[in-house]
Amino acid sequence: MANRSLFIAGNWKMNVTATEAEKTLATLKESVKPFDGKLTIAICPTFTSLDRAVKTVAGSNVKIGAQDISDKESGAYTGEISAEMLLDLGVEYVIVGHSERRQYHKETNELVSKKAKTALNAGLLPIVCIGETLEEREANETNNVITTQTIGSVNGLTAEEMIKTTIAYAPVWAIGTGKTATPEQAQDVHALIRKLLAEAYGTDVAEKVKLQYGGSVKPDNSAELMGKPDIDGALVGGASLKPEVFTELIANAL
Ligand code: PEP
Repeated sequence: MANRSLFIAGNWKMNVTATEAEKTLATLKESVKPFDGKLTIAICPTFTSLDRAVKTVAGSNVKIGAQDISDKESGAYTGEISAEMLLDLGVEYVIVGHSERRQYHKETNELVSKKAKTALNAGLLPIVCIGETLEEREANETNNVITTQTIGSVNGLTAEEMIKTTIAYAPVWAIGTGKTATPEQAQDVHALIRKLLAEAYGTDVAEKVKLQYGGSVKPDNSAELMGKPDIDGALVGGASLKPEVFTELIANAL
C-alpha cells in the first residue's frame, strides 16, 4: 500500500430504496466510527437515495458517491444527471465506467474519460472502473485490455486531476460471481496500471493515485488483497449492503 491510505467504497448498484439506505447508513456510520482517520470510506447508493444518504452520514466518516454521471454539463438530455446536481446534494465521489455500464449501456473508454473530466471539472472525485472479461483473460489478453482501458479512460486528465482520481480494477469475471482474483493476480494488474500511469504522468503522480480492487471482496479476503503493495482499497458490491459485513471487511483490511 506504500504511503497511500486505504480507500474502500461500496457500490450498492440498483439495490436499496431511499428508506432502506437511510436505515443502513445510520447503522454503518456508527459501526465504522472506530476507523475514523484510518481510511476513507464511501458508499455509492442509487440516485434517488443520494439526498437522504448525504444527510444521514453528515458529520461522520462515511462519504457518499453516485454510481454514474452525465458527460454533459446541462441541457436537453432527458434522464441524465449532471455533476452540478450531485455536488448540490453534497455528493463527493462518482463511479464512472463500471463494467455494468460498459456492458449494458455500451459505454466506451472515450465516454468514460469524458465523464471523469466532467466530474473533476465540477469538483467531484471519480472512481474510474476498468477490468477484463473472462474470455479476454483466458485468451491472455488481460494486459492489452487493461492497457487500452487505463489509457483511454483517463485520457485528457491533467496530472493534478489524475491524483484526485481513483482507478478501480474490477475484473468482470469476478464481479458478483464469488470468484475473486487471487491477491497475486490482482497485484500484477495493479502494478501494470501504476506502470502505465508512471509512463503517462511520471512516478510521483503514479505513486499518489489510489488503485482499488473490485470483485467479490469479502471479510475473509480483504486483508490479503489490500495487503498487496499496489492495492490501496476496494470497490465492494454485495458485501457492502450489510453494515456488519462491510464493517468486518474494513476492520480486517486495516
Ligand atoms: C462491483 O460492483 O464492482 C463489485 C466488485 O461487485 P461484487 O463485490 O459484488 O463482486
